[in-house]
Amino acid sequence: MLEHDVIIVGGGLAGCRAAVEIARTNHQLNIAIVAKTHPIRSHSVAAQGGMAASLKNVDTEDSWEAHAFDTVKGSDYLADQDAVEILTREAPDVVIDLEHMGVLFSRLEDGRIAQRAFGGHSHNRTCYAADKTGHAILHELVNNLRKYGVKIYQEWYVMRLILEDGEAKGVVMYRLLDGEIQVVRAKAVMFATGGYGRVYNTTSNDYASTGDGLAMTALAGLPLQDMEFVQFHPTGLYPVGVLISEAVRGEGAYLINSAGERFMERYAPSRMELAPRDITSRAIAYEIRAGRGIHPDGSAGGAFVHLDLRHMGKEKIMSRVPFCWEEAHRLVGVDAVTQPIPVRPTIHYCMGGIPVNTDCQVRSSDSTLVDGFFAAGETSCVSVHGANRLGSNSLLECVVYGKRAGASIARYVENRPLPQINEQKYIQEAQQKIQALLDQVGQYRIQTLRQTFQDTMTEFCGVFRTAELMQQGLNKLRELQQQYSQIYLDDKGKDWNTEIIEALELENLMVVGQIILASAFQRRESRGAHFREDYPLRDDTNFLQHTLAYYSQEQVNIQYRPVCITMFEPQERKY
Ligand SMILES: Cc1cc2nc3c(=O)[nH]c(=O)nc-3n(C[C@H](O)[C@H](O)[C@H](O)COP(=O)(O)OP(=O)(O)OC[C@H]3O[C@@H](n4cnc5c(N)ncnc54)[C@H](O)[C@@H]3O)c2cc1C
Repeated sequence: MLEHDVIIVGGGLAGCRAAVEIARTNHQLNIAIVAKTHPIRSHSVAAQGGMAASLKNVDTEDSWEAHAFDTVKGSDYLADQDAVEILTREAPDVVIDLEHMGVLFSRLEDGRIAQRAFGGHSHNRTCYAADKTGHAILHELVNNLRKYGVKIYQEWYVMRLILEDGEAKGVVMYRLLDGEIQVVRAKAVMFATGGYGRVYNTTSNDYASTGDGLAMTALAGLPLQDMEFVQFHPTGLYPVGVLISEAVRGEGAYLINSAGERFMERYAPSRMELAPRDITSRAIAYEIRAGRGIHPDGSAGGAFVHLDLRHMGKEKIMSRVPFCWEEAHRLVGVDAVTQPIPVRPTIHYCMGGIPVNTDCQVRSSDSTLVDGFFAAGETSCVSVHGANRLGSNSLLECVVYGKRAGASIARYVENRPLPQINEQKYIQEAQQKIQALLDQVGQYRIQTLRQTFQDTMTEFCGVFRTAELMQQGLNKLRELQQQYSQIYLDDKGKDWNTEIIEALELENLMVVGQIILASAFQRRESRGAHFREDYPLRDDTNFLQHTLAYYSQEQVNIQYRPVCITMFEPQERKY
């Protein structure tokens, strides 16, 4: 059996930042990171627009309090305000710390870190490295892992969390290279496994964003929080769905419908294209529904709108958002200097996740914590984003709360013994699971079932929701779950069998999908990204609460826990 003081699942920003903090706090600890990709291929590497912090380099009027207010208002008042205070107060320090580690942020003329405008932020506070911010930060963090001697298990797939008697003891993992299965025991387990964009059929997320950490947590009997809040990013490149960063609008681009109007005037007159994402995505969806979308031949009634950068000029486009120009050019043949980019909303971010306290320890209920289990980053819900995340607050969350997770883990493992685990039991169970998949004489291909599942989630739990639609979605999902027991694999080998991984991921996607649908079905109000056509108003009397969803195969049980309100009383949300 493999042994470490700490095992971190996930090599993105949150996992890597936590590992660095643990090593800095106590360099004698034996730390390992497992990732099913290489760490620098984690989705964090694709983050484009930047990371918010009230450094006041561009806007001297900014403050952490203003950042906190924008975040809470953006969250439609569902964020926990104690967690938001930590996020926004600590932001300037974590940016400077990253810079000291070697991250190359873009600069102002006088050499200080540059800051741009972003949706829902009242001041220019987003720090960036052109439109490749995640790349700049993640590479530096991974370099630091090497410096601190963190052990990296790359291209190992974690199949299960070992949780016994309310204590996390380790994980079971599978090596892609040759199918070897190993149990790892550790004094603390941390999940930093990212989001679940692949639950839907069009997403800005990478192929690895399949919500594994969420599903493993739910399957271990622990709750997931606020899973109904799924973020649609307004500007997915049509038709592929990859992201055209909000930085493009932060630098001045317009959204235009088939009538040539800057239609955001109707939805958020004071913020226009820089309204928060839930409002902007819904505005685009309304325009398309009303027949003011655009067809590829330029006529009205199509499925996208235009993102117009032309007035920004070539020099600004190429220096501030070169990667977005390149994406549009490479993927759909549009030269954004002379042509508008076709865009429509795409699934982008998971506001909900594994509930944690502000020390990143996982909650088993409103009032109880799980021993030895921590989480941070997109897979966690602390909750700083509530019902809708503001752009550039996620990288910030990964770094602030990754660091805090590291500090609490370093304290937690001090003087703790390694847990006892029946290794053989877990190895056998994992071997049987893999063998059963290989032996199964089924009739459904994984890809076909996955596509039907993703289409189902998109159709029945998308931008606009009703009880009737979601009930149909839940029924359909039940059918698909039955089909899962009849999938077949073409590849029966052990070496580099990516089909096994796809099968395991599909099982996880379906668990996550069911929890999203069940949580959304029960929330009979509209708040942030969760929009119910049958309950179009926010209902603070009944639903100013976090959802806690407990999964079982028969059904998902829903409970609620209170929101922490310390600074800002809920108000009507207008822009
Ligand atoms: C295209 C794009 C652009 C974005 N731009 C911005 C931006 O400009 N600003 C901003 O604030 N946010 C942005 N975001 C959001 C932000 O990048 C992510 O929320 C954040 O990077 C998530 O980091 P993470 O560490 O939580 O997870 P990730 O970076 O997703 O890493 C997850 C890790 O977990 C591992 N893993 C998962 N499952 C398993 C398993 N079963 N076994 C082993 N390993 C596993 C993966 O291999 C990976 O290493 C963007 C997101 C996208 C998709």
